[in-house]
Formats: sequence, C-alpha cells, structure tokens
Amino acid sequence: MAMPPARAPLQSLTEALALLLATVEPISATEVLATLDADGRVLAADVVSALQVPPQDNSSMDGYALRTVDVPAPGVEMPVSQRIAAGTSGAPLQPQTVARIFTGAPIPAGADAIVMQEDCLALAGSDAARVQVNVLPRSGQWIRRAGEDVASGAVVLAKGQRLGPAELGLAASIGMASLSVVKRPRVALFSTGDELVMPGTVAPQDMRAGAIYNSNRFFLNSLLRRMGCEVTDFGIVPDKLDATVQAMREASAAHDVILTSGGVSVGEEDHIKPAVQSLGNLDLMQIAIKPGKPFAHGKVGAAHFIGLPGNPVSSFVTFLLLVRPFLLRLQGVAAVAPVASKLRADFDWPRADKRQEFLRVRRNAQGGLDLFPNQSSGVLTSAVWADGLVDNPGGQTIQKGDMVRFISFAELLA
Ligand code: AMP
Ligand code: MG
Repeated sequence: MAMPPARAPLQSLTEALALLLATVEPISATEVLATLDADGRVLAADVVSALQVPPQDNSSMDGYALRTVDVPAPGVEMPVSQRIAAGTSGAPLQPQTVARIFTGAPIPAGADAIVMQEDCLALAGSDAARVQVNVLPRSGQWIRRAGEDVASGAVVLAKGQRLGPAELGLAASIGMASLSVVKRPRVALFSTGDELVMPGTVAPQDMRAGAIYNSNRFFLNSLLRRMGCEVTDFGIVPDKLDATVQAMREASAAHDVILTSGGVSVGEEDHIKPAVQSLGNLDLMQIAIKPGKPFAHGKVGAAHFIGLPGNPVSSFVTFLLLVRPFLLRLQGVAAVAPVASKLRADFDWPRADKRQEFLRVRRNAQGGLDLFPNQSSGVLTSAVWADGLVDNPGGQTIQKGDMVRFISFAELLA
C-alpha cells in the first residue's frame, strides 16, 4: 500500500513573508503626475526643496512687532509707524515705534519680538496711531523662523515615500506642482469556484442551492485600489483548463501580478494550479496562521502569481498580512510592516490554536479591546464589526486584562 505523501510542515508567517518579499523586483517605470493627482502613489525620486520654508521670519500672531530694548517694563507707549499684512513686506522698523503686524506677515528688519494684540492697548481703535504695550516682551517671541520647517536644499520627501495628504501639502509648500511617481502595479484579478455567482446576475430569491455570491472580488478590488493598483477584473475563471491557461497567459503579458482567490486548499481540484504550473512555477504554501493557511505564490511569465484562500475572512486577512507588504515593496516602499500597539484585552481567549491567530477585535471606550463573538473564517460580518486584528502567537491563551498586540485596520487599509 502506498504511503500518503508527507504533509509539508507549516511555514511561519515571518518566513513566508520573507520568501514572498525576496521575489520582488520593484517596478522601475515611472510617470510624472500633477501633485493634486498623486495621492496614494509612491515617489520615484527624492523631492528636494529649492527654497526655505517659511521663506523669511514671520509673525505667528496678530499684534505688534517691536524692539524688546524699547520696552524695559510693561506700560511703554509707542507710535505705530507702519502696518504689515501677510503677503506684504514692511520697511525696517524705526526705533521707539511698533509695527502693526498680522499672522504670517514678515518681521520688519530691526524688530526682535511680536507682542500679541491682546497684550496691548490700542489707544484709539484697533489700528490706532499709538499703543500701550502691557507686557514685558521676550526677544524672539511669536516669531516663526525662516527655514524652521524646511531648509533650502533639504530632501523633504524621499524616494519610496508613499504620498498621503500631509506629503502632498508639504510638496506643494515648496512649489512642486508635479511629482515623479512609480507606475501603478497592474493587477489581474480572478475568482475561482463553480459555486460563485456575481451579484446582479441572479436575484437572492433565485439563487440555486449551494450557490453563493462572489464577495471576495469586491473587497479584493477595493483593497487593490487602495494599495495604488490598477485592477483588471477577469471575473470568475471559466471552468476549463485550456480556457484558464488562455486567460492566465493573456493576463501575464500586461500585468505585474495575477491575484486569485479560492482553489489553493490542499488536494483541491482546480484549474488555476495546473494552469499556473503549465505556464510557469507555483509554490503552494501552508502558513501557520488562522484565518489563512493556504497561500500560493509563483510566476507566469514575468508576472507574479498570488493565490489567496477562498474563505472570505481568510482571503481578507491574508491579503493584509502578505499581499499588502508585497504590493508596497513592488512600488519601492522600504518599510512595509504595519505599526502595532499593545492594548488591553477585555475578553478571554481560553482555547488557543497552535497557529498564530489574527482575531477580529474592536477598540472600546475604556481603551481596551472587545472580541467579535464569531471568529470563523467565513464570517465577513466580523471584518465589518472589527476595527483591527489582534496578532496572537500560536498556542497562547488570553485572559481579560492581558496586553496584546493590536494592528488597526486604519493602518492596514491605508
Ligand atoms: P476554496 O479555497 O476554493 O476551497 O474556498 C473556500 C471557501 O470559500 C468555500 O466555501 C468557497 O465557497 C468560499 N469562496 C471561495 N471563493 C469565494 C469568493 N470569491 N467569494 C465568496 N466566497 C468564496
Ligand atoms: Mg473553491
């Protein structure tokens, strides 16, 4: 009697991720985009400032610019010799006078402090000819220094930086109207499984027994777009090997990545596996995580092939843990690990799995974490209810009050 094939040992997530990232050759093609259109993209070159920000010393308050030597004690009265609004530049300050000044306006030469208007008494109306300074000013107060934000010649944003709202604002603050970014990864998305039905093609009451709607396609499409990818949706893969091979070959020519969900479980009959194997190579991994476990990586021509598990939550979580860092690295991002924090578990988890578990949890108003009651890998409501994952080492039980490792969806879905 033939012995059954030995089961491959489970791989750790760390090991699997390292293997996956080692296959990545970052995309070298770049394009120049208007800064307004570059949200979510990755810089292809350092952004160097050709000027300092702020360009000159300026006031951070509405008030009066003066020389501190002119005000040895509170109560000094001086004439207002000029008015400097933001966007104008004043004349050098005459000694023993003050300049009316507004937030953002350049400090006149000679002045070394701003006194805010609340600390002065305008002796006739707000733009009075004379003011009484009712505090003892300290040299340098309420002055923003030239270059305190950005020095001229500084690299303000480095190659490989992912662009978000703050980065776009900073680029604009040094005059960048356009930015050189890495081209979007082109991803071909396939779903597999004869049970799958596309929403819109069959009404809920008409679904045949055993049929389910294709949900993975929708969240994978959304996740891919959030990661800056251009998605071609190949829909549900036809149920024939030659048609699958044909679709894969076609997809591999014009895409950096082919992403599928379903059909990577051990021993499963599926056309994806033989199709990929006939066109390139395929490594079917068993990763020691829950949800998750089956995961495939290979090459079809120059394109990467990634096969996610079919169970929706497994697919969702595996994407976040493996595909997200993969796609970031493909775009040239160096730091791809999500930031985690230690938070208090306000729940018990008495039966730990041998595998590293990713529990769907939600932060509560007491600063702790609540657990979604159903942690099954098919229950997509858990991912909607949750606002993050607890990364729990294999074999570890959790007692109320324990500190656990939390990774927020805000971090993973950004
Ligand atoms: P598989 O990995 O193909 O064995 O699929 C595991 C489970 O996930 C099965 O119950 C499938 O019906 C389900 N599944 C696979 N693909 C999808 C999909 N695109 N949308 C929703 N459920 C899916
Ligand atoms: Mg299947």
